[in-house]
Amino acid sequence: MENVDVIVISSGQGGVPLAADLAKEGHRVVLFERDVLGGSCINYGCTPSKAFLAAAHAAGRARKAQNLGIHAQVRVDFPAVMERVRGIRHSFNQGTSKRLTDAGVKVVCAEATFTGDRTVTGGDVTVKSPLIIINTGTSSQTPPISGLVDAPYLTNRNFFDLQELPPRSVVIGGGYIGLELGQGLARLGSQVQLIVRGEVLLDREELEVSETLAEALKQDGIQFHFQTNIEQVSYEKGVFALKLDTTQQLQSEALLVATGRKPNTKALQVSTSGIELDAQGYVKIDDHFHTTCEGVYAIRNVARQPAFTHVSWEDYRRLKAILGGEDRTRDDRVLGYATYLGYATYTEPQVGRVGMTLQRAQQQGINACAVTLPMAHIARAIEWGHDLGFYRMVVDQDSDKILGATLVGYEAAELVHVFISLMEAGATWQLLEKSVHIHPTYGEALPSLARLLVGEDMPTCPNM
Ligand SMILES: Cc1cc2nc3c(=O)[nH]c(=O)nc-3n(C[C@H](O)[C@H](O)[C@H](O)COP(=O)(O)OP(=O)(O)OC[C@H]3O[C@@H](n4cnc5c(N)ncnc54)[C@H](O)[C@@H]3O)c2cc1C
Repeated sequence: MENVDVIVISSGQGGVPLAADLAKEGHRVVLFERDVLGGSCINYGCTPSKAFLAAAHAAGRARKAQNLGIHAQVRVDFPAVMERVRGIRHSFNQGTSKRLTDAGVKVVCAEATFTGDRTVTGGDVTVKSPLIIINTGTSSQTPPISGLVDAPYLTNRNFFDLQELPPRSVVIGGGYIGLELGQGLARLGSQVQLIVRGEVLLDREELEVSETLAEALKQDGIQFHFQTNIEQVSYEKGVFALKLDTTQQLQSEALLVATGRKPNTKALQVSTSGIELDAQGYVKIDDHFHTTCEGVYAIRNVARQPAFTHVSWEDYRRLKAILGGEDRTRDDRVLGYATYLGYATYTEPQVGRVGMTLQRAQQQGINACAVTLPMAHIARAIEWGHDLGFYRMVVDQDSDKILGATLVGYEAAELVHVFISLMEAGATWQLLEKSVHIHPTYGEALPSLARLLVGEDMPTCPNM
């Protein structure tokens, strides 16, 4: 067994920069990784899914161009689409490897397990350290469906290894992963059936978001099965057969499971080091990322931090500062709470979100109201044929502060940053109302949205 200064488990987006920075400072750092370097985001999460969607949306837009009088013949070269996706992830992945090697981090390609007090073993390497950082993330959850585990179903882990476009696909799950990849498959030419346990898509969002996305996905030919469970899955000669609890039977060449995530803590056997997990298996941490074991920290998804890469980056920056003696906490962002953070769904139309919904604000006792502007009232959206969706802003009627925004529309993930900046600056809605934005842009609609609060058009806030 070797004594080192720092152990990092594993190579997610927070673990890599921490390991590299600490090694560059002269510490002896060992990093364990059981899979490819770089974690979910670059290998089987954000990067490949968005590269995949770039192709899918290009095909979708080309088909929809007929609404503009342009009739394109779309021929999808699926192997080329996936080669490009894998090429991008390979280049990102190589960048991770180089970063660690250049910094002098010792990388152990093996699954890490706690085998004693602050002692970790992976493969034939055992190391002990006073400082250990757990960054083991999450993986997809397999629902308890009879026959599923014996069938070659897809998850986000192997989806991007697909070589051929499945003629028919069934996607289980109405969360953002199911919707993004489901719409992507449909736009590339697969016949997609989406199975959702609940009544709506994206059930954490406002109902209008779910309804707008359902309309958009329907236009792409996706068929929905709401309030539906799968009773039995079987697989024979390349075809999945699914028995639904509605007595319906479905057949498909691909079955994608996107029904939620579970923390990667089982293999760690953390109890040998006195590290406590919560009831769902996530590592318990305090405000400084500290676990219940002295010297052991946990960051990102495995510690139930909001599951976005931009949060993970912030975890890394905060933990680095804390280790350097600064008085920081895991949530000391300007938009501090998990529910305040910005995030997006990359369907078309996109969903860009930040802050509170009206319902959440009112639940917190805030005297809030909301204004909504449908895309069909926005010049640019009409001109460009992207008129499905809406922009909504929530404000505090006592302080006039902007509390949140929901944007459903073309490239809404970009536009929502206007609200993120305004909210971080503590701006009032009057600042937005007075702003002069460029005509004709999507951004031009944001002052128009604020002007609804002074009764300029379609007021939805009668109390103001
Ligand atoms: C399909 C998909 C699309 C996504 N799109 C977005 C997006 O657009 N924007 C966004 O912000 N977020 C997105 N996310 C979420 C984002 O990928 C995650 O929030 C982020 O990658 C989590 O990072 P992490 O460091 O916690 O864990 P990960 O990146 O998952 O890294 C964990 C690493 O730990 C390794 N590991 C686990 N256990 C062990 C062990 N015992 N020993 C050694 N190694 C171990 C794993 O192999 C893995 O490499 C997406 C996720 C998915 C699945």
